[in-house]
Amino acid sequence: MLTRVVPALGQQPGTVTHTDYRNPVQVKRAYKLRAYPTRAQEGRAVRLLRDHCDLYNAALQERREAWRMQQVSVSYGDQSAQLREIRAADPDGQGRHSFTAQQQTLRRLHATFGAFFRSVRARQKAGYPRFKPYQRFDQVLFVAGDGARWKPVEGARWGHATFQAVGRLKVKQHRQVAGRVKTLQLKREYRRWYVIVVVETEAEPLPPTGRAVGVDVGVVRFLTTSDGEVVANPRFLDTAQTTLTDLQRRKERAKPGSGNRKRLRRVLTKEWRKVRNRRRDFHHKTARALVDAYDALALEDLRVANMTASASGTIEAPGRTVAQKAGLNRAILDAGWGQFTAILTAKAESAGRRVILVNPAYTSIDCHACGTRCARSRQDTVVCPDCGPIDADVNGARNIATRAGLGSGQASAA
Ligand SMILES: [Zn+2]
Repeated sequence: MLTRVVPALGQQPGTVTHTDYRNPVQVKRAYKLRAYPTRAQEGRAVRLLRDHCDLYNAALQERREAWRMQQVSVSYGDQSAQLREIRAADPDGQGRHSFTAQQQTLRRLHATFGAFFRSVRARQKAGYPRFKPYQRFDQVLFVAGDGARWKPVEGARWGHATFQAVGRLKVKQHRQVAGRVKTLQLKREYRRWYVIVVVETEAEPLPPTGRAVGVDVGVVRFLTTSDGEVVANPRFLDTAQTTLTDLQRRKERAKPGSGNRKRLRRVLTKEWRKVRNRRRDFHHKTARALVDAYDALALEDLRVANMTASASGTIEAPGRTVAQKAGLNRAILDAGWGQFTAILTAKAESAGRRVILVNPAYTSIDCHACGTRCARSRQDTVVCPDCGPIDADVNGARNIATRAGLGSGQASAA
């Protein structure tokens, strides 16, 4: 496979970029590894998070006030320029930390504002960025070689991650970290600590298969391809939902501040972690199979947030009631398409495959064969006045393939 496309937003779908052999495609890969800090290191890591949280909140405060008093918006550059002064004024606090890591925290706030303004412009419901309490500020990003360092222990399952103002942490390598280390994140998840190592490596193209496909992600089924293949939603999500709902209810009934409530909170956190891990695993396996089987994959450019935010319905299913929508929202969130798309895109990129994102408007309601607007009286079927009833998801997947310039996306076409 000599070409790859991961078009940016707004780019014409189907644009092909040729790989330059002198500059092979660089792909990023993230390893999330469990860290085992000593008690003293944990204390310092907590302080690191707190100091960064303070910085984040102070920067947010400045942006809020500037806006309230003078309708001035403060840029990342303005805030970054003040760092030197802030550090000098607080040598035992902010001054102890990595300068570039602090810049990353300011960038993170900047990104939050960017997302907020984008939602406002798109007339979506969006809350003004809020202050973060200490317990919710759970990670700091370091640039490798500048306040943080990764050092694998040769031939061992352990490695060491060193962070400025924290020390050298013992890290378990369940997978060997391969590639040039770019960034290191120190992250807390409830009581556990993780180091996320992001590396850059060269893509390793897979041999071409001569096949292309359109993929429609759904609510009832996880996905349907233009070849008519169906991947069902994993069963464990149903079970998990029952368990989680039950635990949530029990927790709410438990007396605030009681030992029982705390225990239930722990169980709930653990249960959520289990669900997230299993779902990620499922996404990886599903994406792997698709990337192995097809040279080009077309997907709808879905912003999951767009679909979940509005109760008035989507283009595909206008006028649903709010109650139905709530159930639908849950199913959407459970399906975790955003994560799946990200995983699929990353895998495709490393394998030299193409991913084409297409405009999702009317992909499931127009007939893939003749283009006529269909009727959709049931969720699973569309009825074309000329061609008759068609499976709604397969119809959607074929439209996606066509829109991406992959023909009908049927296997016979390849
Ligand atoms: Zn038709």
